Amino acid sequence: MTPTLQRTLGLRLSVWYGAIFVISTLVLVALTYALLVASLAQRDHDIIRATVREYASRYELGGLLALQRAVELEERTANRERLFVRVIGPGADALFARMPQGWSGYAQQELGDPNRPALDSRAVLEVATVQLFDGTILQVGKSNEIRVALLRKFRWIVGLVSIAALAIGLTGGLVLTRSTVKPIYDLIGVVRGIIRTGRTDTRVPARNAGGDAVDELSALFNTMLDRINGLIAAMGQSLDNVAHDLRTPLARVRGLAERALQSGDPAAARDALGTCLEESERILSMLNTLMDISEAETGVVQLKREPVGLRDLLSEAVELYADVAEDKGVTVTLVPGDDVTVSAAPDRMRQVLANLLDNAIKYTPRGGHVTASVRREGDSVVVAVTDTGVGIGAEHLPRIWDRLYRADPSRSERGLGLGLSLVKAYVEAHAGTVEATSQPGSGSTFSIRLPIG
Ligand code: ADP
Repeated sequence: MTPTLQRTLGLRLSVWYGAIFVISTLVLVALTYALLVASLAQRDHDIIRATVREYASRYELGGLLALQRAVELEERTANRERLFVRVIGPGADALFARMPQGWSGYAQQELGDPNRPALDSRAVLEVATVQLFDGTILQVGKSNEIRVALLRKFRWIVGLVSIAALAIGLTGGLVLTRSTVKPIYDLIGVVRGIIRTGRTDTRVPARNAGGDAVDELSALFNTMLDRINGLIAAMGQSLDNVAHDLRTPLARVRGLAERALQSGDPAAARDALGTCLEESERILSMLNTLMDISEAETGVVQLKREPVGLRDLLSEAVELYADVAEDKGVTVTLVPGDDVTVSAAPDRMRQVLANLLDNAIKYTPRGGHVTASVRREGDSVVVAVTDTGVGIGAEHLPRIWDRLYRADPSRSERGLGLGLSLVKAYVEAHAGTVEATSQPGSGSTFSIRLPIG
C-alpha cells in the first residue's frame, strides 16, 4: 500500500466515523424537535377545546350574557394569555368578540388533526368553531406565536449543535482512525521490510490496547514469524546434519577407492570395493529414511490401514529382537497388558515398535532391562518401552525427535539419528502422539499414543 493510498484510506475512514456521529446526533435532535412540536401543539389545542366546551355550556345555560361573564372572569383570573372568542349570530353578525393581546390580524386556521400537528413555521390563530343549539356560532382561538418563536429558537440551537457535531465528529473520527489504522500500518511496514530484506527476525511492535482484534492480529503475525523462523532454523540444521553425515562416509569411499587404485593389488581392490558397497548402502539407507520421514510428514504416503492387534505386533517385535538383546546381555520383558486393536498400517507400526526396541536395547548396558507394554487409556492406546539404560540429558530431550540428531556426542553406538524422527512421523501420520521421559544414568521411557477406532 502506497503512503497516498494509506492517507486516502485514513481520510475515508475518518469521514465515515464523522458521518456516523453527525447523522446519529442529527437523528436524535430531529426526534426531540418533533416530540417538542407535538407536545406544545397538543397542549394549546387541549386548552382551546376545553374552553370552547366550557363556553358552549355557559351559553346553553345562561345565554350570551352568561358567556360574556365567563369570558371576563376568565380574563381576570386565568394565568395565561388572552384567548380569541367570537360569537356570531344567525344573521352572520358578530354578537360578541374578544381579541388576544397584541392582536395584529393573524391568519386563521381551524384546528386540524391533533395527531398531525402543523409545522408551526408561521404565526396563525388556531380556532375551534362550534354551532350552538340556536344556530349561533361560537369560536375560540389561540395564537401560536409563542410556540413559533420557541421552535425558531430551537431550530437555531439545532443548527449550532449540528455544526458542533460535525466538527467533533470529524476530529473524533480522525483521532479514532489514526489509532485504529496505525497498528495496521506498522504491520504493513514489517511485512514490507521482510519482503525487501528477507529477514524474518523483525517483529510488529506490541501495543497495550486491551487485546483488541488488531492486537490479536499483531500477536498472531509475530507468532507466525517465530514459527517460520523456527522452521527455517530446523531446515538449516537438518541440511547441516545431512551434509555432515554424508561427508564422512563419502570421504571414506573416496579414500578407499584412491588407495585401492594406487596399490594395484586386486585382493586389496576387492576388499575396498566391498567396504565402498557397505558405505554406499549406509548412505542410501539414510537417504531413503529421510525421504520416508518427509513423505509421512507431508501426508504424501498412503497408509494401507487395517485392524492391527498391538499386543501381537509388540510381541512379534520383542521376539525379533530377542537374539540382539541376548547378545547384548539385556533382558526384554513383555508385560501382559490390554489386547487393543487399532486401525493402522501394520508395516509402519512394525517399524515404529522395532525402532523403539532397537534404541532401548542399544542404549542399555549389559545387565540392564527393557520392558514393553500395551495399555488402554480411555479412547486411546499407549505403547511404552522402558529401559534401564544410559538415559538422555534434559538439554537433549526436546531435540531427539529431530532428523539426524544424536544425543550421544561421542556417537559410539551405530545409528543415523533418524530412528525417532521416523517413529514420530509415522505415529503422527496415524493421528497419534509421541512422548519421551528420561533420567540420565537410570533409563528412559518412550511412549506412543494412538486413537482407538
Ligand atoms: P540413533 O540412530 O542415533 O539411535 P534415533 O533417532 O533413534 O537415532 O535417536 C536419537 C538419539 O536419541 C540417539 O542418538 C540417542 O542419543 C537418543 N536415544 C534414543 N533412544 C534412547 C534410549 N532408549 N536411551 C537413551 N538414549 C536414547
